Amino acid sequence: MNIHEYQAKAVFRKYGVAVPVGAVAFSVDEAVKVAEQFGGRAVVKAQIHAGGRGKAGGVKLAKSLDEVRQYATELLGKTLVTHQTGPEGKVVQRLLVESLTDIQKEYYVGVVIDRATGCVTMMASEEGGMEIEEVAAKSPEKIFRETVDPAVGLKAFQARKLAYAIHIPSDLIKQATQFMMALYKAFVDNDCSVAEINPLVVTKGGEVFALDAKLNFDSNALYRHKDILEMRDLAEEDAREIEASKYDLSYIALHGNIGCMVNGAGLAMATMDTIKYYGGEPANFLDVGGGATEEKVTEAFKIILSDNGVKGILVNIFGGIMKCDVIANGVVAAARQVGLTRPLVVRLEGTNVDLGKQILKESGLSIVPADSLAEAAQKIVELVK
Ligand code: GDP
Ligand code: MN
Repeated sequence: MNIHEYQAKAVFRKYGVAVPVGAVAFSVDEAVKVAEQFGGRAVVKAQIHAGGRGKAGGVKLAKSLDEVRQYATELLGKTLVTHQTGPEGKVVQRLLVESLTDIQKEYYVGVVIDRATGCVTMMASEEGGMEIEEVAAKSPEKIFRETVDPAVGLKAFQARKLAYAIHIPSDLIKQATQFMMALYKAFVDNDCSVAEINPLVVTKGGEVFALDAKLNFDSNALYRHKDILEMRDLAEEDAREIEASKYDLSYIALHGNIGCMVNGAGLAMATMDTIKYYGGEPANFLDVGGGATEEKVTEAFKIILSDNGVKGILVNIFGGIMKCDVIANGVVAAARQVGLTRPLVVRLEGTNVDLGKQILKESGLSIVPADSLAEAAQKIVELVK
């Protein structure tokens, strides 16, 4: 799960990670009111779940209250297109109004889970303010990493090593070290999957601040972080993904035109691969889970069909725990409810497969059966052409 910058900064504050003074605003008047606290010298920042706002005009530096009013008016309700939003962009509904920082230099600090070592890793670079992916591609030697032993946590010497490596001014090393230690604690305590500060800045007044803040959380751990869960902004999420999460379905929207309904994440991946192998493009990843009920299958089907980009559907089910007749009943019920007009290929295998096939056949719906995954993929790719 993702949260807004102002929310991430609230989490940081709790842990002593220094951030500029500021507050969220939902209206122009609110934005002006926040800026009054620091005399109008403010930065007005669009709050959307995407980075790259600076380049897209979503971060405005105001020198007076009039400018704050002007920028807030401009940004609220605007569709911001950044390189992370996709071409459709995201509508700005909240602003963060912060006291303007006089930047001496921008740095990068990030905490991620490194799959190679299976450990939390802190990364730092003196190329702050630009995309870290770009730094990694152009000058990888400018990114420094410290792997954290989970038994002992981030040690001060590791943070100091990073601070020296990225050339934090020597009189600010201690501050930067404390900053990194606090960031690591915030990451671990809240079961984050990513914490990124880009830029971390050293100010002309000799302070260290997180000027930007990005926190992602491991969804599987959210049950023990009610405070974090409350920060969820549904307006920022895909409507179909929200609907799917209500029924405990693992659904991820993609850009192709073949809707997929599969049980098991591995089988779902294999199905998507096979569709692509035969020249098709999957419209989604959908795992209905091992023990799906007829109701769950019906909902899954409706979610797939609610995507207008879907030109055909491939159902690929292996009946292990799940029985093929349950799936068949779910598919038939859903197809009747929504009035199926798009091609549907169904491949069933496993427990009660004959019964399942019989249910599909006797339904009177135009369902194309397939016996193997390869056959199913070829048929649906052909049908959506
Ligand atoms: P992003 O583009 O979505 O990552 O948004 P950021 O919060 O990182 O802001 C983009 C850029 O705006 C930063 O890299 C800074 O250069 C600039 N910026 C943001 N806040 C301030 C500020 O208080 N003072 C100044 N001078 N620049 C700022
Ligand atoms: Mn940034």
